[in-house]
Order: sequence, then C-alpha cells, then structure tokens
Amino acid sequence: MFTHNGVDFWSGDIVNFMNGSTSARFLVESFHTMDNSAVFVQGYMVYILEGGQFIGIEVESTSIKLETLLGVDSTPVDVALCYSVSPGKVFHLIPRYKSLLEEPHFLKWHVLDETGKPIDPKLFYKVRILPIILFTNDTSGNRSKQYNPYESWSMKFAALSYEERSSIENIHFLSAIPKKKGASGMSLLPKIVEDFKRLENGLVMFSAKDNENVLVASPLLWIEADTPCHSELCGLRVPTSLYPCRKCYVRLQRFMPNLQSSSYYTGRHTARTKAHYLAAASTSGRGSTIPDAPLTGNALTASDLCFANRATDALLELQSFDPSTDTPVEVLHNILLGVAKYLVNYLVKIVLKKNPNQMARLSKALKDYENSQGMSRKFTREAVRYDYNMYINEVEKAVTSLIQELHHYDITCEVEGHNLYSSKPKVHLLTHLPNNLRRFGTALYYETEKDEQFNKHIHEHLMHTNRLNTSRDQKHSDNTFVVFMLKESRDQHAHPFIGKVSSLGVEHY
Ligand SMILES: [Zn+2]
Repeated sequence: MFTHNGVDFWSGDIVNFMNGSTSARFLVESFHTMDNSAVFVQGYMVYILEGGQFIGIEVESTSIKLETLLGVDSTPVDVALCYSVSPGKVFHLIPRYKSLLEEPHFLKWHVLDETGKPIDPKLFYKVRILPIILFTNDTSGNRSKQYNPYESWSMKFAALSYEERSSIENIHFLSAIPKKKGASGMSLLPKIVEDFKRLENGLVMFSAKDNENVLVASPLLWIEADTPCHSELCGLRVPTSLYPCRKCYVRLQRFMPNLQSSSYYTGRHTARTKAHYLAAASTSGRGSTIPDAPLTGNALTASDLCFANRATDALLELQSFDPSTDTPVEVLHNILLGVAKYLVNYLVKIVLKKNPNQMARLSKALKDYENSQGMSRKFTREAVRYDYNMYINEVEKAVTSLIQELHHYDITCEVEGHNLYSSKPKVHLLTHLPNNLRRFGTALYYETEKDEQFNKHIHEHLMHTNRLNTSRDQKHSDNTFVVFMLKESRDQHAHPFIGKVSSLGVEHY
C-alpha cells in the first residue's frame, strides 16, 4: 500500500493513469523504490477488450512510476469476465491474477471502532513496513571481559540511511542473558520469535508522523553475528564438521590428502535452502533425509549434513527469515579476523620465526599501518558510486584469486601437519560474499563493527548493575530490559512487548 496525492493505492486495485485519454488501466501487485526516492508500482496493464464487456490483463508485468497514477477505479470487476492476454493471444485468467483481484491483501485491515467493528467498509489502516535487522553477540558483566559472560540481542531499522543506522542512538537493546550451562542468547529466541511473528503479520500502532493509528509490519531482514554464532543460529555443527557452510553443502576436509583442485574451492556448490532447514527440523534426531542434497552414493540425513542444534528452530517459524540467505557474510570476522589473522599468525609464528631481519621489517610495516586507516571505507564508496555491478565482479575476482593463491600455498607448503587454508570455512564463506552484495548492498551495511561498539554500552551497563549488587552471585533478573512499548490504540496505556528475563526463564508481562 502506498499513498500518493492523498489517494491510498493497494495491491489488488485497478487504477487509472494521470493522462486519462487512454482506456488502459493498471492492476497493482507491489511497490518498490529506487535510489531511495522514486516509488515504482509493479503490476499488469489492463485493457477493455472488444465489445466493452471483457477485460484483458497482460501476462507480462510492468513497472511504472507511482506519480503517473491518478486514482483507483472503483467500478466492480467481474472476475468471470477477465482474461489473460499476451500479444496476439487471449486465454483463461492466470490463477495468481485471479487471487490478486479477489483476495484482499493480508495487510489490508479495516479501521475498527472501540467495539471492534469496522468504522467504514472502505476505510483501512495505512501500512508502514519497517524491516528489522537483529544482532547478537557475547559481552561480559566484568571489567576483565573474561568472566561473567552474557549474550545480548539488539536491533535496528533497516530502512534508515547508512549514517542514521550507524548511529548508536538508533541501535536498540533487546535483551541480555547470562551464559550458563544450558542457557545462552539462543534461549531467548522462542520469545523473540513469538514477538517478531506478531510484528511480521502486522500490529496496529499509533504513528506520530501520520497522527493516526497505522498498521506496522516488520519483517526480519537479516541477522548480524560472527561466524560461530551464525552457525549456531542456523542449528549447524561447527566449525570442524564436514559440511560447515550454512549456505551450501561444500565438503571441507582439513588435511592434505583430501585437498581438491582449486576450482572446487572457488566454485559454487548445492545450496542449502529454507526447505532443507525445515526438513531437518521436522524430526527430533535430525534423522530426516534432505532432498536435493549432494549425492555421495548414500542418502545423507540432516545429521550427516551437520544440522545439529535444535534451539534455534523457532527462527524457521518466521516467514521473512531464511537461515541460508539472511545470515550475511560479515567482512570484519571473515577477512580481518579470519583470513588476515590466519596469515599473520602463520607468518609470525612459523615463517619468520628464524628470520629476525624480516621480522623487523614487518614490525616497521605494522607501525605504518595507521597511515592506511579509513582506506577501505573510502575505496568502497568510490567504487559503489562508479558502478555497483562492476564492483561486485571485482569482489568476485578478488575472492577467486585469493583462494587460488591460498590453494597454491597449500599444495607447495612443506610444513608438517599444515592446516589447509583452502578448507577453512571463513575462506569458503567469502565465495558467498558477491551474492550477499547483490541481495543486501555493500558489506558496510552488515559489518558488525558498529554493533560491537554498541556492545560496549551494554558491557558498561552490566558492570554498573553488577556493582550495585552486594552478592557476587548476583540476581540476573535485573539485567534484562524491554524495548517495544506498544499500545493497541491511542487511548490505551503502552505496555512492554519483549518481556523480562528472570534467571534462565523468560517472563512476558
Ligand atoms: Zn557455502
């Protein structure tokens, strides 16, 4: 639903064009924006067929600017008189278009009065879509950061500009839970998912901007986390398992006799899908076989394919979330804390161990590092302005050549027990980066550096709370908070929505 010139346009509406000279109409299916400003309507051209009695709806969809629309054609449509048309052909109406005309959109809700009855059959709540990004991470309630570990959840709104989204004020704390045997951030998921299910299906809230109640729908767009946490969220065994990738079934074996050709590591592999995750979750022991999984001669069960942890199955109940696609590759953990860290460790601890001169050169180079700070961000912005598709191609080429070089090193390395770089899950995950760039935009949008900074605030707050406690074994019930303050109507008191964590349980109130 989108409002233009005071007119609400809905999915399923037949609408008139601004230049009223033509008899053509348009059947609205969906809306999208480009360049953050221009609003486009996706749908199908509608024509009155010869004789004026029948209606033809074009098979091919078209995208037009919202501003070319004048208003909604309120003439009742008899679906029995509608046909699908493509150049030179007329045939029965395609079922999808039939349901578009007949079934109201699931977010088209009547405005209700106090007794729950529609005020006017033609009056609907305006819809506001607010996609949400979740972030989860470890933090600590102690200064040392070694003890008293907590896991926290926070969220931000995806539709904000990059600058707004990066601001600490716009990151919202959801909850933190002390990590103990049998409890972790994942223990909060069933409760979080319950609330997010209500949000993705629509909730009526008062909007200060609209000065009226609106229907808010908030799909979960993606979850930011480091690599082990992403695997845990996907319910996979990590990271040494044979099929460690949450996005595909690449088989990664760590030691030399199992090294494949370099094209195996740079290429694509059978994708994991949400259907696979659902199939894995369908039996308690992960014993179900996964359709379309890689063929090895034997049918592999979900357990063979490293589906393990069941605590996160609740996430699969969210229509908007697919674990295989909505867990973007995080560049901070995969490149700097992944590949770069492996190579620097290896260089310092093994290659340069017996070569002090070269070690001295390295130290000097590291001191010069400060000069290069900020370079990567500047580079990304320049590249994106130039041509985004070209940028993605360049990233793809860079990932391929990096893996080829690592593979070459694996083949030629003479160090005994060398742990293959080509088989590191973090190296492999980089092959999914180009797809993530296509789906979610530049990697800056889903790097976790800003969230990590926000975690410092949580850490400080936990320390403060703990200091107020006289007992070392403090009560945890004071350490969790609520974020959503919801009210179903303007006159109702707001009530908290996520709930409160009391020790290891979650209370909703
Ligand atoms: Zn993969």
